[in-house]
Amino acid sequence: MTSRNGSSPRPQYEVLVIGAGFGGIGTGVALKKVGVENFLIIDKWHKVGGTWNANTYPGVAVDVPSPIYNFSFQQRSKWSRFFAPGNEIQRYAEEVVDKQGLRGKLRLGCGAEKAVFDDAHDMWRITTEAGDELTARYLVSAVGVLEQPKLPPIDGIDGYSGKIMHTARWDHSYDYRGKRVAVIGTGATALQAIPELAKQVEQLTVYQRTAIWVAPKPDFAMGDGWNRVLDMPPVQQGVRLFGNIAVNAFLGLGFALSDYPRATSAVLGVGERALKAYLFTQIRDRELRQKLIPSYRLGCKRPSISNVYFKTYTRPNVDLVTDPIEKFTETGIVTADGEHRDFDMVVTATGFKVMDKGATPPYPVYGSDGVELGQFWDENLYQSYEGVSVPKYPNMFHIFGPYGYAPGSVIPLIEATSTHAARVVAESRRRGATRAEIRQEPHDEYFQRMFARNNNTYLFDLGCADSRTYYINYQGNAPALRATTQFDMYWSNRHFPLDHYRFTATLPAQATADRTLVEVEG
Ligand code: NAP
Repeated sequence: MTSRNGSSPRPQYEVLVIGAGFGGIGTGVALKKVGVENFLIIDKWHKVGGTWNANTYPGVAVDVPSPIYNFSFQQRSKWSRFFAPGNEIQRYAEEVVDKQGLRGKLRLGCGAEKAVFDDAHDMWRITTEAGDELTARYLVSAVGVLEQPKLPPIDGIDGYSGKIMHTARWDHSYDYRGKRVAVIGTGATALQAIPELAKQVEQLTVYQRTAIWVAPKPDFAMGDGWNRVLDMPPVQQGVRLFGNIAVNAFLGLGFALSDYPRATSAVLGVGERALKAYLFTQIRDRELRQKLIPSYRLGCKRPSISNVYFKTYTRPNVDLVTDPIEKFTETGIVTADGEHRDFDMVVTATGFKVMDKGATPPYPVYGSDGVELGQFWDENLYQSYEGVSVPKYPNMFHIFGPYGYAPGSVIPLIEATSTHAARVVAESRRRGATRAEIRQEPHDEYFQRMFARNNNTYLFDLGCADSRTYYINYQGNAPALRATTQFDMYWSNRHFPLDHYRFTATLPAQATADRTLVEVEG
């Protein structure tokens, strides 16, 4: 087959995966499982592990128990702690790459700049940041949603002359020991960094805009005994099953129960009382405690866990500031009450752009009608089928797409959506098709169902109004979530009818302007 301009239209790869984090690694394994070997995984970083490579701030650790933060096909029994530090999780990613035979499929230090669907030849053309072109029949975007750092748009920030760094871009060459340091933000990341920084700096000032619900962290060192017990497959499977149910319940029960608002409210009430009691055990100063109690309902934004976060505010070298930040000056920060504080370093623990134009995914994607995906979502709301595929973006699959993630550990999400993508690729292959596109009707049905479910959750009740949750995006919707259980997410990605996709082939002789797509039946 040759194209109109004479160059070969045969793609270099059957599948190109963008991202070598857990999403890309899981996808590689899912592809191998269905017999697809001609694939490449690219990543802008020089190491695998994605978020565990990007986030190296002091105190970084997984906040889902490590024995369940691993793939079902390669469970690891040896962990230093029940909640392992970030670098140990990154090492686990390397182990999976080696054991699953993915090392030779990687091209690291290779960022995607643009993806364009070649409508005449049913393949994707991906331009890399180095300016090369890679072509593939299918494209999997395995770029996480917590990927693009969000910098606070605070007046004067550019004129600040001290050191400033986002937690996801930690500069290890800067020595903050003995310095005056500020942290902006009190999300799950700040909560891990603040206690570590407090131990080493002269003075730590934390700027809190919205408090976070915090539960105690059942963390402990895992010695040989624990590792040996976890090495037994039935124990591993049991821990995995019950652990995932528990994390799913902690993070997402309130959403999954959205059809039962009274039950939801009762469950949340019990949780909130328990967490306030925990705070009481940590801080005796009533005024300080009041500042740390969220004014929104538990679960409006992701709660977190720590045994040391609250106590850190009782240290003599730590201040909690709740007056709003007005501006940066050349040397520090001024709050609305007029107080100016000087800092050597400001840490922006201000999170990520989630389901935001230009960030999810962080490169432009042009579909079969030439429309850019971010533009399409901007004009028509974020949407997808099962969090994976979008009409008019054929042969493309997302691992963390809109309305895909039922709150819990991300591993079940990755195993569900990567299996979905691999099923479609395998079926397309079986039918001799060159194009697989989600049909409009099942897509619309799924999107409308999830949109309605999400809108029916307490996220849109008054109880969440002042939470500033990143679960709700700039359009006022919650595409980062799927208000179902993780079991529902897992099941439906493995069992959706394959005929929800339209499989077509471009006949070789018709690879011209007047070609027709021939539907290939199963
Ligand atoms: P985040 O939850 O979005 O928190 C950002 C913090 O910065 C919030 O306290 C926010 O306050 C504050 N902030 C943002 N812009 C601000 C501004 N202009 N002025 C003042 N404050 C501002 O981000 P994150 O803490 O990085 O956590 C993101 C997610 O990463 C978590 O939900 C979790 O899913 C994941 N995470 C996972 C782990 C793990 O171990 N697995 C660890 C860390 C994080 P407002 O709330 O007022 O906006």
